[in-house]
Formats: sequence, C-alpha cells, structure tokens
Amino acid sequence: MPRYVIIGSGPAGIAAAEAIRSQDSQGEVVLVSDDPHGYYSRPGLAYYLTGEIPEELLFPYRETDFQKLRLRQVKARVVGASLQEHLIQLHSGEQIRYDRLLIATGATAVRATIPGSELEGVVKLDNLEDARRILKAARKARAAVVVGGGITALELVEGLLARHVKTYYLLRGDRYWSNVLDETESRIVEKRLEVEGVKLHYHTEIDQILGKDNQVTGVRTRDGQQIACNLVAFAIGITPRIELAEQAGLQVERGVLVDEYMQSSARDVFAAGDVAQVYDPISGRSILDSLWGLAREQGKTAGLNMAGMQVAYIKPIAFNVTRLANLTTTIIGAIGGGRDGDLAGIARGDSETWRQMPDAIAAQADFDVNRIRLMVGDQTLLGAILMGDQTLSQALQQLILHQANISSIRQQLLQTDASLGDLLTNFWIEWKRLNA
Ligand SMILES: Cc1cc2nc3c(=O)[nH]c(=O)nc-3n(C[C@H](O)[C@H](O)[C@H](O)COP(=O)(O)OP(=O)(O)OC[C@H]3O[C@@H](n4cnc5c(N)ncnc54)[C@H](O)[C@@H]3O)c2cc1C
Repeated sequence: MPRYVIIGSGPAGIAAAEAIRSQDSQGEVVLVSDDPHGYYSRPGLAYYLTGEIPEELLFPYRETDFQKLRLRQVKARVVGASLQEHLIQLHSGEQIRYDRLLIATGATAVRATIPGSELEGVVKLDNLEDARRILKAARKARAAVVVGGGITALELVEGLLARHVKTYYLLRGDRYWSNVLDETESRIVEKRLEVEGVKLHYHTEIDQILGKDNQVTGVRTRDGQQIACNLVAFAIGITPRIELAEQAGLQVERGVLVDEYMQSSARDVFAAGDVAQVYDPISGRSILDSLWGLAREQGKTAGLNMAGMQVAYIKPIAFNVTRLANLTTTIIGAIGGGRDGDLAGIARGDSETWRQMPDAIAAQADFDVNRIRLMVGDQTLLGAILMGDQTLSQALQQLILHQANISSIRQQLLQTDASLGDLLTNFWIEWKRLNA
C-alpha cells in the first residue's frame, strides 16, 4: 500500500488529500503541518479582524470531515528531505518515509528589514496567530501605521479601523494597487478610506521604526516626518516557502518548478499551491499564482496524479471576490494596470494573470461607486472588474470562461457612451439561450 505524505494543511494540501482518497481508499495519507491551527480560511482572516465573523467560522472542516478522509495528521515542521531515500525529516528528528510526496508549503509574508522591525508591535498578516496578535495589540493601540499596496494591506487598514485604531496608510507610489486597478478605481478606494478616517500618505516610505522599552512608539519616514503609533503593520508582498525544496535539491526558480502534472524535477515528488511555479503549456511559461481557488485546483490535480492518474492542470480563469474599502469587488481573468509599484514579490490575491496586460482595449462604465471595467479582446472578453454592484458578476465569469464570441456587440461596447450593463445583460440572456 503506498504511503502519500503531504506537507502543508492549506487548501492545496487538503484538496490533494481529497483527490488521493477519491482514487485510493487503501493507501496511507499523512498530512504534516507546522500550523498549530491546521486548515482554515486565510481569506477569512480579514473578516475576523473586523469582527464580522468569529474565529470558529474560519474553519471549513469539522473533525468528521477529516475522519472521512482517514488522514494521519502530524503537527510538526519539516526541516529536510532525502529524495534518494524517500524520507522527510521533522524538527523533532523523526523521519517519515514516503512513496509519493507533495510539497504544499504555501507562501509567507515578506518581512520588513528596516531598523526597528524587530520591535514589539511590528506585525504582518499571514496566519491565524498573526491575526490574534494584531487583535491583542489593537486593544491597547491608539494609532497604527500600515505599509503596502495590495489587498492584504487594505485588510489590515480596515481591521484596525474597525477596532477604533487611528490608522495612517503609507503608499510607496502615487495611488492604491496600481498594478491591478486603474486610476479611477484606485481613487474610489482611497476616497472611501479617507471618509472612514484613514490618513493616506503617498510617495512615503519608512526610514526607521522608533521604539522605547522594545515597544513601537512611532515611525520616521524617509522625508523626515514622524508619526506616533503603537503598531506598524506590513503587507509588502509574499514569497513562496521554497527552502525545503531547495535544500532537497529540487529545481526551483521563484517557486518549486513543476510540469502540468504538478510533478517536480524529482520522481514521486509533487508541488502545488502558492509554493508551486507551474508550467503552462499554452503560454509556455512557468507561473506563480497566489489564490485560494487555484491552490485547491492545483492540489486536486497533484493528488490525482500522485494516486496514479495522468491529469494535466488547466489553469482556470482567475476569479477573485474581495472587498476594497467596503466595496465588493470581483476581478475576473486578465485585468492589469501595468506596473508593480508598491509591492515586493507577489501580492496576496494578486494573480499574475491580472498583470499580463493583454493586447486589448479597456471599456469603462462609471456610475457612482458601481463600476465595470472590461478588457475587450478581438473577439472575446479577456477580463473584467466589477466594483460595487455585482449583478453581472456571474454572467461575466461565464462569458470570459467560455470565451464567448462578442463580435456582435464589440463595436457598441467600445463606444464612449455605451451602456455596458444593458448591453452585457442582453448579450448574456441571448448567449445563455443559444448555449443552453
Ligand atoms: C490575509 C490573507 C488574505 C488572503 N485573501 C485571499 C483572497 O481574498 N482570495 C484568494 O483567492 N486568496 C487569498 N489569499 C491567498 C490564499 O489564502 C492562498 O493562495 C492559499 O492559502 C494558498 O494555499 P496553499 O495550500 O498553497 O498554502 P497555505 O494556505 O499557505 O498553506 C501552507 C501550509 O504549509 C505549512 N507549512 C509550510 N512550511 C512547512 C514546513 N516546513 N513544515 C510543515 N508545514 C509547513 C503551513 O503551516 C500551512 O499549513 C489570502 C491570504 C492571506 C494570508
């Protein structure tokens, strides 16, 4: 009976375990993770910070769900792997033999390295422990500084605001999340933050974090301003946790290189999720992604292949629903604004797909804060962003996913006074009728 060992209890690891069990009811499945809390929703941490959901709701699985999968769960850090001997080494010194190994170790927040970063009160948001630490610190904090240009930074801002902490938001560039949002969208978010009481600082970077008795007391910016605060939160990008793969001698670039079957450079060793850099046969490139849904999909593909099938990963259209300054925002497919200004490495929830600016024209519609932006290709829609009103979210997802031919409405869509909502609704109804 084969023994499958999975390192990492995130969505990639769990989806792999489910896929293995769907094919092999006899084999032993060992799940090793160093997260004391096991499997929970990282996207949900934002809502936990704001107090909208209690901690229990972060956990998608009950004990019975794990029992059905018949996993042996090991809470430990894996510190090494010997590919020759098919062994992994735990922090405790214990070794576990595998027949097939999955590395699903995810990614971790990039740590700030500026002077003062080691002080009490400097935080990041990577996992449940971090979120608990932030909530504890926020109880005593009067003011906080948040640094970073993507979704996680904004989640920190919103969480701190909800906890009545005066919040200063420092952006390195001239607007919010410029590698995904266009200027209007950035300004909508910034305006709403200002209304909520956030003080935004553009073109601002921290020179030093100030402290007393090992506790943060403020920050000094490069242009010499001082901001008094008790908390400094960084969300300056993420980096795949490749140390283990590197040490084992697997081929790595920014992530662990895998083919479309999620197999690494070594036999019997697979990788999936945020840690994997996956070969995409269509573009011929190896891509990193950092989205929950894609991690699950990759984990599932890896699991099926580990159990003996031959299933290629087909990258689904990226689809992410998030909330920006209390505005529900759906981002589908290829949406990009060009440059990667505020972020080091890759951003949370920021699939690289959105950055591949396609050869397309952006059509826009503005009405109050509800907004649709489409990336219109020659014959199909390549991407869309919806802020506020989500009525067309499902329609756009389907039209983009199925590469619906939009030639019949393309010219109308591109007219400056086009009523995108009506055009798309009518097109969607007709498309559904024809494709039922
Ligand atoms: C605050 C936050 C908000 C997010 N919001 C969104 C969102 O809105 N939408 C979205 O699509 N995605 C979002 N994401 C990203 C999403 O959570 C990740 O893409 C997803 O969790 C990746 O899954 P994974 O299984 O690859 O890795 P992870 O979920 O990171 O899990 C990795 C696991 O490996 C374990 N591990 C690592 N190294 C070792 C080791 N050496 N030994 C043992 N165990 C190890 C870790 O403890 C962990 O259990 C967010 C992430 C964060 C942190």
